Amino acid sequence: MSKTVNKSSNKPNIPAALMFVFRLVKKEKPMLYLWYFLQLISEIGTTVLPIILPKYIFEFLIAITQGTSYEEVKYKLVGTVGLLIGFTLLGNCIVKVTTAIRTTTNEWFNRYLEQTVAERAMNMDFEHTESPDALDQLNKAKDGIAWYSGGVEGILSNFYKVVLNFCVLICGSALVIRECPWLMVIQAAGLLTSAFFNVRINRAEIKSFKDASVFNRRFSYFFYQVSNFNYGKDIRLYNSADMFSERGKKENGKLLNVWKKQAFCTMRNFFGINFCNTFRDSASYLYLGVLAISKRITVGDFTMYCAASSAFYWAVYRILEGVQEVVKRSNYIAEYFAFMQYPSVMPKGTESVAGQEHTIEFRDVSFKYPRSEKYVLRHVNLTIKPGEHLSIVGLNGAGKTTFIKLLCRLYDVSEGEILLDGKNIKSYSDGEYRKIFSPVFQDFQLFAFTLKENVALANVSGEEEVSVNQALELSGVYNDVVKLERGIDTIIYKSFDENGTELSGGQKQKVAISRALYKDAPVVILDEPTAALDPVAEYEIYRKFNELVGGKTAIYISHRLSSCKFCDRIAVFAEDGIKEYGTHDELVMKSNGIYAEMFAAQAQYYV
Ligand code: ADP
Repeated sequence: MSKTVNKSSNKPNIPAALMFVFRLVKKEKPMLYLWYFLQLISEIGTTVLPIILPKYIFEFLIAITQGTSYEEVKYKLVGTVGLLIGFTLLGNCIVKVTTAIRTTTNEWFNRYLEQTVAERAMNMDFEHTESPDALDQLNKAKDGIAWYSGGVEGILSNFYKVVLNFCVLICGSALVIRECPWLMVIQAAGLLTSAFFNVRINRAEIKSFKDASVFNRRFSYFFYQVSNFNYGKDIRLYNSADMFSERGKKENGKLLNVWKKQAFCTMRNFFGINFCNTFRDSASYLYLGVLAISKRITVGDFTMYCAASSAFYWAVYRILEGVQEVVKRSNYIAEYFAFMQYPSVMPKGTESVAGQEHTIEFRDVSFKYPRSEKYVLRHVNLTIKPGEHLSIVGLNGAGKTTFIKLLCRLYDVSEGEILLDGKNIKSYSDGEYRKIFSPVFQDFQLFAFTLKENVALANVSGEEEVSVNQALELSGVYNDVVKLERGIDTIIYKSFDENGTELSGGQKQKVAISRALYKDAPVVILDEPTAALDPVAEYEIYRKFNELVGGKTAIYISHRLSSCKFCDRIAVFAEDGIKEYGTHDELVMKSNGIYAEMFAAQAQYYV
């Protein structure tokens, strides 16, 4: 497995991010566009009318003070004031309503995107679940969706900001350009210099996000994972709380340094922005003052141009800010894309698996784990016939579990091939291929669902419930389950339900075994899931299991050799491959044989 993951490019693709957001909204919540349109009309009105109308109000009032009768301008004056107040009131109410709708819709989109990340995490190549690079990318995607990018709303609202301010800019420019064109030059110069400082602030923020992601993940591990009660016993009994706290503090320190650097950079650049703004305002007032004193504009014009120049400035400022925000947030959303498109290293086949009887063949298989140079298995050759019961034994680290992982295609072989019914397993579709296995691993997981859901790993009703009960009975845990107040409807663990149950190690293993029995697949695998059972219980499980499995193919890994006696063949793993292979009677008779030695060492327990 010398292939390395060719990570997809994280280069922000802004058009792609925008198109993704637009399409998603169109598909899932198209009404959002209508709300945005309503808000646009309202905000253009509430921004532009207060620039234009005060000029007329001002001029009517000056006319009255200069001798025009009030009656003459009464209706115009009251109408203009009414229009200004009325539109401002109505516009602001509409904006409040649309903002509330947008916020709620964004929450929906956040959950939707998180769900897609979770689904991708469940579907990606298994080997990625152990890759630090993929785990970092997962973290960046999670943070990038809602937290840093602001999700769909973060991108859409900034795009909207650009559109709105572009409309305001056109109105502001139309007012200013004829009478006082230099005003635009002054505003533009001020803007360009502020933009320079803003770009630096944004770059620092993006860099901090990338730097912080690694420390964040480690920090979360120390403080959140270890507060998981499952770690409680080891932490207390090995007095390791201080060690965890120290590690956490160290990572936290690194994280703080990242944010400190960013805060100082932001502060320095804000000073620059402040200086530019003061200079720009002074120059504008000076220019308009000179025009008014030289009577080239009226006092009413003076107020309108002051307001228009300020609107012009803020419109361009917000356009630049909006564009920068869209770019920045697209960067964060790009992390989501990178995770969603995280390249697969395992070729995907399409063929389906036919029938219930299967021949499995390992043909000259060698394997080393990704990012490792050491071969765990070398030149393994083995055929498992339909219905054969194979026992795999060997010392710790001999590669037994790795053999199973290769068989289940959690990893692809580095050399050689694995064949199912004569075809390379890579040619089968993953879903189809995995259907034929009912495995129980050493590190099986039970979830905070009901017992029956843990067995079926699906919603259960009617007939299926009967099969769940049967599976629980066969694994020997049914009598314990019926004693629980809610029987198979009892939730495991107390994470979500205080009436949930905590099962013993042995009971958990039996539930996991029930899961395999329930699936009823043609190839059954037990990878030492019985370590928490005493030898007698384990012997019972294997004996029963062997009966239950009947004509199915079965592969057992166990340290306790008594369970091998039931099997047709035994493969003894040592160092980096199969060193002995045969029936129990053949291997036990072999002088200086590994199996014979192990069996003799354990035999005393069974005599
Ligand atoms: P067994 O099941 O016989 O105890 P395993 O198949 O679990 O042995 O492990 C075989 C070897 O592969 C060991 O040296 C182990 O450290 C190594 N190994 C197991 N899993 C991984 C992994 N995910 N990445 C790298 N090395 C691994």
